[in-house]
Amino acid sequence: AKEEGKRTYRFFTLAMARQRLERHRLEQDLRDAIGNGELFLQYQPLIHNGTRRTVGFEALLRWQHPEHGRVTPDRFIPLAEEIGAITEIGAWVIHQACGTAASWPEELSVAVNVSAHQFKDGGIVEAVRDALARTGLRPDRLELEITESVLIDDAQQVVEILHKLRNIGVKIALDDFGTGYSSLSYLRRFAFDKLKIDRSFVSAIKDDPVARGILETIMILGRVLDLCVTAEGVEDDAQLAILSKLNCSQLQGYYFSPPMAETDVGGYLLNEFRR
Ligand code: C2E
Ligand code: CA
Ligand code: CA
Ligand code: CA
Repeated sequence: AKEEGKRTYRFFTLAMARQRLERHRLEQDLRDAIGNGELFLQYQPLIHNGTRRTVGFEALLRWQHPEHGRVTPDRFIPLAEEIGAITEIGAWVIHQACGTAASWPEELSVAVNVSAHQFKDGGIVEAVRDALARTGLRPDRLELEITESVLIDDAQQVVEILHKLRNIGVKIALDDFGTGYSSLSYLRRFAFDKLKIDRSFVSAIKDDPVARGILETIMILGRVLDLCVTAEGVEDDAQLAILSKLNCSQLQGYYFSPPMAETDVGGYLLNEFRR
């Protein structure tokens, strides 16, 4: 048994060493990803519930790795945060998304996900100002999606940064709403423009009365606080029917469209216009 234990131990250290090496390489690759042109954005439409028209797109970051293929943001964003690359990547995303949106019809907005780390140094304000100035995008066409994790560390400093962003004229959305543990208290600290209900609620509304109850409550909250409420991850007719009845302001999900390449947005809009 002792021998076996030793073998297992050795096996684990080897596996761990390999994993560390893998990770180290991935970190290095990520640092180079912008320069190598491996990062790009896809765009997923946001649909107005009342008119069923596209009112904007959410920009979603993609990494095409030369060997590993497509690396998902759930994997590389945390890595970028850890190695401090998220500030540069985040600024690139904002600039890129603003540039693309500036070529769209001017009633369409673009939503960009912002990591908590981009708030740490306040550099986000400069990044947004710079992107708007360089692309000429009207500030109210840019929407920043932040999660509660942004507000956990130093809420006071973050709220100040949010006010600066608000003064620039951009919109602020609270993303993944309902998944954190104290969402409601944040609503008192800052007047968000929008709540995005997490996909986990949407996927549960058909057969989970509790999820549905929470969803209904969020809708009421949205109405009382005069917030736009978006449901993400809408995949089928049944979910759509329930969300429609609840008067959810905006809808997003595979039911309408998966995220698409920047070059496909024009065709998508033309097709919608013809409908
Ligand atoms: P998120 O902001 O909650 O984005 C929604 C995610 O749900 C996206 O995954 C989207 O592709 C996916 N989705 C949309 N509709 C459906 C649907 O009907 N069904 C299902 N099953 N999924 C749907 P994605 O693109 O893999 O992004 C994952 C997360 O990575 C995002 O979650 C966001 O937190 C983060 N992320 C993406 N781009 C960026 C970025 O530029 N910066 C930062 N900081 N985070 C980003
Ligand atoms: Ca988002
Ligand atoms: Ca979300
Ligand atoms: Ca999410």
